[in-house]
Amino acid sequence: MISNSTKPGEFAFIAALAKQAAHTPEALGLGDDGAVLWLGDGRKLVLVADMLQAGVHTMKGASAAQIASKALRTNLSDLAAMGAEPAFYLSTICWPGAPDEHEMSILVETLENEQKQFNLSLIGGDTICGQGPLTISMTVLGWASGPLLRRVGAQIGDDVWVSGIIGDGWLGLGVAQGNITSLDTNDADYLLGRYEYPEPRLALGKRLAPLAHCALDVSDGLIADAKHLARAGDCCLHLDYEHIPLSNAARHWLSVQNNQKTAINALMENGDDYELLFTAAVDQGQRIDEISHDLGLDLTRIGRVIKGQGVMLGTPDGAVQPAKHSGFTHF
Ligand SMILES: [Mg+2]
Repeated sequence: MISNSTKPGEFAFIAALAKQAAHTPEALGLGDDGAVLWLGDGRKLVLVADMLQAGVHTMKGASAAQIASKALRTNLSDLAAMGAEPAFYLSTICWPGAPDEHEMSILVETLENEQKQFNLSLIGGDTICGQGPLTISMTVLGWASGPLLRRVGAQIGDDVWVSGIIGDGWLGLGVAQGNITSLDTNDADYLLGRYEYPEPRLALGKRLAPLAHCALDVSDGLIADAKHLARAGDCCLHLDYEHIPLSNAARHWLSVQNNQKTAINALMENGDDYELLFTAAVDQGQRIDEISHDLGLDLTRIGRVIKGQGVMLGTPDGAVQPAKHSGFTHF
């Protein structure tokens, strides 16, 4: 991810590191969701890493099992964004002081369940006791047998698509923090689940690899991640407010917000959705609809790729404005 910003920050830091990796093809310029090793037999091994800390990416009181599960799933979402299938992982845990036996046994049981669900095998890692909040880093390795999905590749005239639903992750965080209290128990529980246990779109990534022009997973927020695709493709993503897929719970929340436009913006600007955002030629629409039907997963056309840069937002009244928000960054 190359930042145009001259301010020090997360993306400027990554850009500085990318210079070091510029001559390592496997790094993909540090601009994709993972790195790739091309093996001699035609297979590609995709490597992704993610670190989560209690109180930053999850609630302060989250258990090791909850954080580990989310760390695995956010990594798997990166694999999905590249069209790869999970195979192995390494788990590194920094406990805040000596962990109790019960918490460790729950963690082991949770990892076993996640491994079964996602067809993963643990092959290594490290465990230490440190100072500060519970921190878990996962490195996941996966195979890509077909074409590799990349962030680069959007073509002028493409349709822009997104899987599933946007905004639930951020609303779930709001519920967890006690900032959203207007929803009934069903809605609140649903949103919490979406925040704590994102569903990596692995089957979708694999199906999209041969036909999508580019893809990433929405982790920083729809608008911020759309900007990443626009920058990688040297184009502009024109998104339509009215087509952004929202859950019933999100619509219930929207119904009690004073400013609808500001509220929908908030759903598009904030992270933790872990849906796939991708572009594809207009004539792939029928195939994408078939994939949606096969997987039982909504795939929604939310805009198109046009000449220009960045992200434009179109409203139902015909107004178009540049999206200014840059999404979540760590510093
Ligand atoms: Mg990602």
